[in-house]
Amino acid sequence: MTADPFALACPRPLRHETVQMAHGGGGRLMKELIEGIFLPALGADPAGLHDSAVVEAGGTRLAFTTDGFVVHPRVFPGGDLGELAVYGTVNDLAMAGAKPLALSTAFILEEGLPFAELAPLVASMKAAADRCGVRLATGDTKVVDRGKADGIFITTAGIGLIPAGVDIHPRRVQPGDAVLVSGDLGRHGIAVMSVRAGIAFETPVTSDCGPVHQLAAALLDAGLDVHCLRDPTRGGLASVLNEIAAAAGLAIEAEEAAIPVAEDVAAACEILGLDPLYVACEGRLVAFLPEAQAQRALAVLQATLGGAGAAIIGRVIEGPAGRVGLRTALGTSRLLDLLSGEQLPRIC
Ligand code: MG
Repeated sequence: MTADPFALACPRPLRHETVQMAHGGGGRLMKELIEGIFLPALGADPAGLHDSAVVEAGGTRLAFTTDGFVVHPRVFPGGDLGELAVYGTVNDLAMAGAKPLALSTAFILEEGLPFAELAPLVASMKAAADRCGVRLATGDTKVVDRGKADGIFITTAGIGLIPAGVDIHPRRVQPGDAVLVSGDLGRHGIAVMSVRAGIAFETPVTSDCGPVHQLAAALLDAGLDVHCLRDPTRGGLASVLNEIAAAAGLAIEAEEAAIPVAEDVAAACEILGLDPLYVACEGRLVAFLPEAQAQRALAVLQATLGGAGAAIIGRVIEGPAGRVGLRTALGTSRLLDLLSGEQLPRIC
């Protein structure tokens, strides 16, 4: 049996007859959809799923990834749909250790969308691409009837160059690896949800929406043996730890007290009934590397733009494959499971 559940290609039974919101939530139902419909028909990457696929061409390795963006509202504190569509794909390329080269973009526009709303989003995409040093090289536009889409949906795809010698993948995660995060968690999900829920905080929580490729590059440039990287988007840190633990066939133990969550995010989570460990970030990464290099990696992240709030939050251990435990401040331990339902629809 393979250690990677995503690599299985036989259909899994589906619990529903139709698509549910939770099928897009990054949790258990989404896994069921991928394993029940997509992988059996389209084929699984034998290496297991990662944020980017790796394509070999003429002796070089390219990372290749795609993503759709449907965030609602389209403009939120700290970002908007346009920049999110660029950073989301740039970040997935970076999680394979790739230097982003070029992006494509497709716009699905609803009849009646004011140009006054479209133009700033496109300008925002361009600014984000410039910031990442990546070219928006090709695109497509489709318009659908009024009422058939919610204003605008954006899809981006990206390619990036993986430097020789770089091998970043969940299968490289080892017992004894340290787990680091590049900053405080849950900002993006809370920034979007607080607008939607109409909660006015004294100072609004701003999204962490931004690029992380410079953080990945800094770790690699420092010569650190980075085993795996992943950005904690939908499903948050808890889902990342579950996916990586399952893919590596190992267990992970995280320290609650070491996990950075800003006070305003924690307060908002309490009001909204959310667990910050499951709330999406859009400008953070989780890194797995040998424990002996953890302090140096921490210093590198903290000295790099976007990494000031980095922390070592746990480690990989031998144990039941896929088990993620959280040691609480009280010294007790609880399981961090994959979520079954949809916690936050349309946050990215
Ligand atoms: Mg990702």
